[in-house]
Parts: sequence; structure tokens; C-alpha cells
Amino acid sequence: MDEKGLPEERVLEILEEFRSRDMTYTSGRILGSMCTSSHPLARRVYCDFLESNLGDPGLFRGTRELESCVIGMLGELLSEPAAAGHIITGGTEANLMAMRAARNMAGADKPEVIVPKSAHFSFRKASDIMGLELREAELDRDYRVDVGSVREMISDNTVAIVGVAGTTELGRIDPIAELSDICIEEGVHLHVDAAFGGFIIPFLRDAGFKLPEFDFKLPGVSSITIDPHKMGLAPIPSGCILFRDETYLDAMSIETPYLTEKQQSTIVGTRTGASAAATWAVLRHMGRSGYRELALRVMAVTSRLNEGLKDLGYEPVIEPELNIVAFNHPSMSPEKLASRLEEMGWAVSVSACPPAIRVVVMPHIKVEHIELFLDDLKTLI
Ligand SMILES: *Cc1c(COP(=O)(O)O)cnc(C)c1O
Repeated sequence: MDEKGLPEERVLEILEEFRSRDMTYTSGRILGSMCTSSHPLARRVYCDFLESNLGDPGLFRGTRELESCVIGMLGELLSEPAAAGHIITGGTEANLMAMRAARNMAGADKPEVIVPKSAHFSFRKASDIMGLELREAELDRDYRVDVGSVREMISDNTVAIVGVAGTTELGRIDPIAELSDICIEEGVHLHVDAAFGGFIIPFLRDAGFKLPEFDFKLPGVSSITIDPHKMGLAPIPSGCILFRDETYLDAMSIETPYLTEKQQSTIVGTRTGASAAATWAVLRHMGRSGYRELALRVMAVTSRLNEGLKDLGYEPVIEPELNIVAFNHPSMSPEKLASRLEEMGWAVSVSACPPAIRVVVMPHIKVEHIELFLDDLKTLI
């Protein structure tokens, strides 16, 4: 740090130079991200609440109330209006909290967690941080978790089973209803990771899409991760963890001697209230119909991409159920194709299981971007 500070103008000028090197969602070139442009209203509200600290909620009672309202609205969306939870930084923190609650409730000697092979890498972090043994269940031919494989892995030390509603790589929905039955039978915590799917599956179901149940309506489901900063259009960082009731939060509450609230269940202490306020704003403003239209719009763009790829001779890995398309070139490896596309200015991602190019058709990707993308893909076939 320099002894003497720079004038504000100069600081902003330098920052603009850095920012110009970032990619933007509005360019339509970011094809491999699960985040997107946040709603302009949410952005404004986020700035207004920048200083509110939910780590000390007695000082920010209004924001605390907004957080409760969001938990209520998302609980209702996921079939349990009385759900308890928090607005936190994202899916990773939500999954950490779910694993922590499950472990504390179960009290096993050598806690084990069963996750599908397709689970997000945040469970590896949870395993490392909390000393949980991770057991990876096999997938079936459609890349959904194989329920038989899950059953085989259950032991006296199993503290949680994880199902994914909208896998990160393919947007697949695991058979949560079957996992729910197993978890009731075995008395095990079922955590549903709907970080991505939570803000699209319910709306597509409303619109008549044949997608399976995955939420608290299934009695075995104990907790759900749902990320407002993905399909919810909230600013980063906005994640949400929901538990069926308050007891899961109590199971990990810690005394907080010097704050206005005496107990805290979240992992972080000082935490932004801006995410809760911004999420509240976007939920109230969009309403179910707003999200339904958004879901239908991204699915229409997804279909156009999927059909366009097939017409060109590319090979989609699965028929998409959600707004994620994974595909391969008939002869080029995914890594090679990704780097050719990168040279053309497209930021795609490569999935590991199965190896493929992965496009997440987020709301910032419009049909005109897809047409340009297909034009470029045509030159590579
Ligand atoms: C994105 C994602 C996560 C992680 O969420 P972050 O907000 O990046 O921490 C967890 N699980 C699934 C299924 C995801 O798609």
C-alpha cells in the first residue's frame, strides 16, 4: 500500500481497465456458467443493503425479517412452508451446513455420507472439513444415481444420503422419491442438492413438463439446497439452505457471547444481509409467473441448441430435461473442441462424466447467440 492515497477518479480508471478484461454475461459468450446477469432490481436492492450484517441480527431486525420471509417463500415453493433455514453464500455453504446438521443429529462414530458419482465437488470439501467418509454411488445408464448401489453402501455409520435435483454437469434429476423411501426405512437424513434445479424444476412442473417430485412433499427429504444466484436471478453470493424444521439448525447452534443473538447455526459469522434483501426483492417482483416464463424461455433456447447440434452432426449426450446441453464432436475430443471454441471467443466448459462439451443455457444466452454459436460449430465439423 502506498503512503499517500490516489484520487477516486484515478482508482476508478484503473479498476475499469481491470474490469474490461473480464468476460460479460451480456456478450452471450459465457456458455459454461451456472450464474447469470442478476435482475436490475436485485442489484439495486443489494447496494441499498450493503452494510446490513445478519451475523448480528438484533441490529438489523428488518433484514432479519426479510431473510425469514425468503425462507418462507422458498419453503412454500418446495412444499414445506414451515421450513427453517438461512440465506448464505451459495450451494457449497448450503451443502456444508446440511452435512454438518446430518452428522450432528446422527452422532455416528465414523460418519459416512453416500453421494452419487455425479454430485458436486462441494461434498468433497465437506468430507475433508468434517472428516466424513464419502461413498460414491454408481449412476445408471441415464446418469441418474443407481438406487441399488446406494442401498448397498448403507451402513451403521451412514449419516446422510444425497440426491441431486439438476446435476451440475447434465441437469439430471435423481430418483428422489425412491431415495426418500430408503431414507425413511433406514432412518437416514436425505439431503437434496437442488442448487441449480430448485429455481427451474418447480416452474417447469407448473407449466406441465413431466419432471419428478424432488422436494419436501416427499416425507424422507430432510434438507434442500437451492441457489438464488443461479436460476433465481439474485446477485452473487446468494445461496439458501432449507431444513424440514428448526431442530436441524438447533443441532449445530453455537453460543455467541458478544452478539445480539445468543445462538448461531451458520458457518460464517459476519454475513451479508444484502443477499437476503435482494433475493426477497426478486422473488416478490418475479412471482411464480415470472419464473415460469423464464423457465420456458430458457428451455426453448435449449431445444433450439439441441436440434441445431443434431442437424450439424454433433452428438448430444442425453436429451436435456433442464437447460443444460452436453454434446460431442463425432471425432474431435471435448478438450480440443473446447479450445477451438475458445479461440473463437466462446467460453464453454468440459464435463467429466461423461466427457463432453457442456453448455448451461442461462437467461443471458439468447437465440441469436445460439445461432452464432451453431454457425461457428458448423465450420468445425
Ligand atoms: C452450483 C452447484 C453447487 C455449488 O454452488 P456454489 O454456489 O457454486 O457454491 C452445488 N451443487 C450443485 C448441484 C450445483 O449445481
